[in-house]
Amino acid sequence: MLEVTGLKARYGPIEALRDLDVVVAEGQLVALVGANGAGKTTLLRVLSGIHRAAAGTIRFDGVDITRLAAHRRVAIGICQAPEGRQVFGPMSVEDNILLGGYRRRDGQLGERMEEVYSLFPVLKERRKQPAGMLSGGQQQMLAIARALMGGPRMLLLDEPSLGLAPLLAAEILRVVDQLRKQGTTIVLVEQNARAALAIADLGYVIETGRIVKAGSGQELLESEDVKRAYLGM
Ligand code: ATP
Repeated sequence: MLEVTGLKARYGPIEALRDLDVVVAEGQLVALVGANGAGKTTLLRVLSGIHRAAAGTIRFDGVDITRLAAHRRVAIGICQAPEGRQVFGPMSVEDNILLGGYRRRDGQLGERMEEVYSLFPVLKERRKQPAGMLSGGQQQMLAIARALMGGPRMLLLDEPSLGLAPLLAAEILRVVDQLRKQGTTIVLVEQNARAALAIADLGYVIETGRIVKAGSGQELLESEDVKRAYLGM
């Protein structure tokens, strides 16, 4: 479904991605793990079209989308839920969710919203409240819910459990697992490498802008290098 080859990205003189290759098959949950500053967020930003690739190609369903604008990528099913609970605080929970469906012209907005509410019942209970009043975990759910309204074929998730208490983090990853089981292809960036690899079909380890290791979630969990560097063992 997604084939990334020789990808480079920069911030001015800083090379954030250097010759990176990644493949994601349809229906897979792929985890990207790596230290702070390794380039995980940059990769998601380049995939969603928010940040320009300096070199390399990105193919989606065999089509070269390297130069495609971000909003056109949403239209073909690539949707990102950003890091850090970027919700619109003064707007209601429901309006935040509806924003994610702004492109839909198929009259299925209501139906889609019910699906999203069934994944996150707490958002339904609090739908009339300002998003800024939600707890951190609920705002994270809202950011994911908004991305789901676009009807993604490939969902890009940046640190969905960041800063959450362990129980809430587990709850978010349970929903991610459920979305995969429902057929959504997912690229997941997570600081919590153990939890992410435990639910991933495939994992990639990124160091200084390059993939240094790839394998099934289980293989990486059992790898001595990964254990030492990312699992604190
Ligand atoms: P984190 O877990 O901290 O988000 P990451 O693996 O997602 O880390 P990136 O945020 O992609 O890493 O950063 C990759 C590199 O690019 C780092 O060297 C970082 O300092 C640099 N970088 C990221 N954003 C910017 C920016 N806006 N301006 C300049 N340099 C940046």
